[in-house]
Amino acid sequence: MAKPDVTIDHTKKLSNLEKEQRVIDKAPFRHLKITDAQVLNTIEGREICNRCYKSRKFFCYSCCLPVIAEKYFPRVKLPIKIDIIKHAREIDGKSTAIHAAVLAPDDVRIYTYPDFPEILDKEKTVLIFPSQTGISIESLFENKFKQGNNRIINRTKNTFPIKRAIFIDSTWHQTKTIYKDQRLRDLQCVILKSRISQFWRHQKKSPRWYLATIEAIHQFLVELHTCAFGTIEGYTDIEDIPETDQRYKGQYDNLLYFFKYMYEKIHTIYDHDRLWAYKRPLI
Ligand SMILES: [Zn+2]
Repeated sequence: MAKPDVTIDHTKKLSNLEKEQRVIDKAPFRHLKITDAQVLNTIEGREICNRCYKSRKFFCYSCCLPVIAEKYFPRVKLPIKIDIIKHAREIDGKSTAIHAAVLAPDDVRIYTYPDFPEILDKEKTVLIFPSQTGISIESLFENKFKQGNNRIINRTKNTFPIKRAIFIDSTWHQTKTIYKDQRLRDLQCVILKSRISQFWRHQKKSPRWYLATIEAIHQFLVELHTCAFGTIEGYTDIEDIPETDQRYKGQYDNLLYFFKYMYEKIHTIYDHDRLWAYKRPLI
């Protein structure tokens, strides 16, 4: 009698989502325009921070300043201001918020809670947080109003509907505490489209789509820019895109300069499949 076939091919049981993710995990930054960071390998040892005199590698996470010369990293100009509020208990060295402050120093400020940014223009400021009343980035571009019995939607085009975005940089649990602060109450919450995180630090009990702060800022700006001006598909493969073309062509990808470098560094040390952070459930 023939035995029933009980061998299960586990690769066949992977969902499409997981399969796609495995492909992305192999080269997660391939479709982005990020300056080659090999030059960072030429920096040996650590430097002394000019402000606090502590010994640091690349940047000082206490003072939010680089400790290496400007030639070692790119600068990014952002279309709006970004404020990051971090929890005092968050360990500075683990946070990726500092990357944004170093790479886009004119547009990014970091505050340690309960220190807070002054919010002058509430109408033009949003909080990135998945609250129940949160809306998509696309909805920021829609002006809804009523004309008689008709509901009319006007779409903002070729400009940015906001001037400032606030991010909370802390563990998921601490984030909720900061979110409850009265000073953030009246702000419109915005929810990012879910994207799987490449963050290699394992965050207990947080799903994998809980992005590292620098990933969230990058994704937010790409979505915002694409909603306003559109995007050039496959822009990394196209040479000579005119300056005047306002569509998204990688303008903010260098925000991931240090993130990509550290990602690749850690993956040369640890086998990807053994890194805990990637074993979190996808959903
Ligand atoms: Zn310092």
